[in-house]
Amino acid sequence: MKNIAIPVLKIDGNFEIISWNTSAEDFLKVTFKKSPGAQLNLKEILPSGIWSEFQYNFEANGGVFHNIFTFSKTKNLEIFSSPCLDDGGNIKNYSLSIKVVSSRDTTSSENIIQLKNILENSSLAIFLTDPSGPIIGVNKAACRMFGYSAKEMTGLHREHIMQKNINLDNAVEHRNKAGELRSELIGVRKSGETFPCEVHSVIYTNNEGEKRTSTTIIDISERKKQELIAENNKQAFQSLFEYNPDAVYSFDLQGNFLSLNESAARLGETSREKLMEMSFLPLIPKDDQVRVMEYFAKATLGEVQRYQTNFIGLKGTRKVLDVTNFPIYVNKKIVGVYGIAKNITQQVSMEQKLLEDRNMFRAIIDYIPDHIFVVNEKHETILTNHSFYKNYLGVEDEQKSLGLTAAEFLDKEEANEILEDNTRVMDSGTPVLNREKIIHNFNGEKQYTLLTKVPFSFGDNKKGLVGISRNISEIKEKEKSLEELNQALKEHADELSLSNKELEQFAYIASHDLQEPLIMITSFLAQLKKKYEHELDEKAQQYIYFANDGAIRMRQIILDLLEYSRVGRIPHKVTAINLEHLVAEVLLLQKRSITEKNAGIEIGTLPELKVEEPLLKQLFSNLIENALKYSSKERTPEINISSLEKEKHWEFEIRDNGIGIEEEFREQIFIIFQRLHQRSEYKGTGIGLAICKKIVDNFGGDIWVDSTFGKGSSFYFTIPKQF
Ligand code: ADP
Repeated sequence: MKNIAIPVLKIDGNFEIISWNTSAEDFLKVTFKKSPGAQLNLKEILPSGIWSEFQYNFEANGGVFHNIFTFSKTKNLEIFSSPCLDDGGNIKNYSLSIKVVSSRDTTSSENIIQLKNILENSSLAIFLTDPSGPIIGVNKAACRMFGYSAKEMTGLHREHIMQKNINLDNAVEHRNKAGELRSELIGVRKSGETFPCEVHSVIYTNNEGEKRTSTTIIDISERKKQELIAENNKQAFQSLFEYNPDAVYSFDLQGNFLSLNESAARLGETSREKLMEMSFLPLIPKDDQVRVMEYFAKATLGEVQRYQTNFIGLKGTRKVLDVTNFPIYVNKKIVGVYGIAKNITQQVSMEQKLLEDRNMFRAIIDYIPDHIFVVNEKHETILTNHSFYKNYLGVEDEQKSLGLTAAEFLDKEEANEILEDNTRVMDSGTPVLNREKIIHNFNGEKQYTLLTKVPFSFGDNKKGLVGISRNISEIKEKEKSLEELNQALKEHADELSLSNKELEQFAYIASHDLQEPLIMITSFLAQLKKKYEHELDEKAQQYIYFANDGAIRMRQIILDLLEYSRVGRIPHKVTAINLEHLVAEVLLLQKRSITEKNAGIEIGTLPELKVEEPLLKQLFSNLIENALKYSSKERTPEINISSLEKEKHWEFEIRDNGIGIEEEFREQIFIIFQRLHQRSEYKGTGIGLAICKKIVDNFGGDIWVDSTFGKGSSFYFTIPKQF
């Protein structure tokens, strides 16, 4: 404070002296023998008579007053009090100027001028009015506040500067009765703008004995605004507390609940009241209690604590909480702890699951022998598997393979080709699937691969692709040797088919040409028997018989061989054949045998086929003949002929209930001249099934038998739909 001649003291609302200037210090020492210091109260300085009058004046005028108190016979104490405002327009403290004046000087013109100056320059708006209404005088602050000049203001009534309402009426009425008023009213500026103000008005009698009103007005817009903000904040905090989905609470220093919101009660699985009677400890599982108590203790020492803990509600539900605890300060002393607890049970279990999934995913991709890589739009690798980084790039861990582009590990030409291809895949969104590609690994080793690139987008429409490259070098090698083998096989088959043809040719010629000498033998044997029968003894006749029999058998074999070699040799016309008619014809040829054996024949639906009719007829004929021939003596033969349509071929079945075939012979019976019975038992040469197989082979189908020995057999054969 500037050292001016007038002693000035600053006091607070409780009259405590809070600051002073040097003049005031001297003044107090000289006049009252007191040194101003900490917590010195005005009451202790002023003589008791002056004090009570001062206090009355001060309180009645809201700290704005000027008065002269009788100090001694010759001296008076002149005190002028005015409030000091802070930036928000609130009264911060009061400024007192105190002076000892001789009784004579009390109303000296110098004093009045000084006072006028002070009032004029006060930051309070000060009005001097006639209690009936019109304004007599105003200071500068009043003009500034209401936007009028001092001249304009003079003569205005209170209604011009105060909003007329019931509050104003009440205030004026009260003031007229009590002689003073302190009220919050609405001021009206010249512009018409209204503002809240605190009005302090007191009626006094001037030296001329006229009633006057001294009114001070403080613009409290700022204060009101602050109050509103404070109120809003309070409400916002209250709502934040009440409606917070997280648990919000406070504890005393022992951890007992002082307050908690509904979410906290829900977490605790009980009522707020019940929790208010307890501490938090029983809600923490035993294993976590020591740790949580340590955190709590630290918070009570002033540290903000954030931690995760397990939690058990009073109904036993376990949860995981994310807790933040803060110390509560009152007058700079910690009196408790408040905090927020978030239920992160789901999040934790999801994180756990994610981690497990990630580990599993990692394990899977790392154990896959294919190279797997993911690149982003900038062609940088953002994920690689063990096979890629180790076997292809030759680096020790995934980290070293990340952020690289093909240009960094391949030669320029190969890298460019890859980058272009990647861009195409990412831009078009069309994947590359199993493209054969030759790559070279970090050692320069050549690998045949099957490359797949699948585009995808992630986050903010960023693009990327997942690549999988499978090493098929081994398969390629095998393919190559298989091809070679195939070629060799084909050559061999060609040779074989050539020699088969030659063999067939030979068999045909042989059997054809053998017939003539055989006929000669048999006819000469017949001549021998006819001409010399009476001259030959019994033994010689027997020899002739055996020779003849052998010749007949030989003829049969030759005929069979001829027939076998003819299958497929002579091409027949391919015609549409109704199989039901064909089978009926075959059965007609077998009529005698069927009647003799009283055989039951059942025929299913049979299709129409386009094949060479004579071959098909022979096929059915041989199989039906066998089914009749190898019937069981113990039962009447039952023969079933049926067909089954498959996707690419027809399957036929000729089933009988005959003697059946032992498993070990089921393949052998299709070989030429292979039979399982003596001629004396069942006639035949063992050519029938061999011919069947040759016919079916010729059609491009298969033939096989299924049988239960002693119960019956099923002969199956297939004919492709197109051949
Ligand atoms: P063959 O009838 O002249 O002996 P096949 O080639 O027709 O010649 O038959 C070969 C052998 O298969 C026969 O000797 C017989 O043992 C057996 N076989 C063929 N068909 C049947 C059948 N339906 N039931 C039981 N055995 C059969």
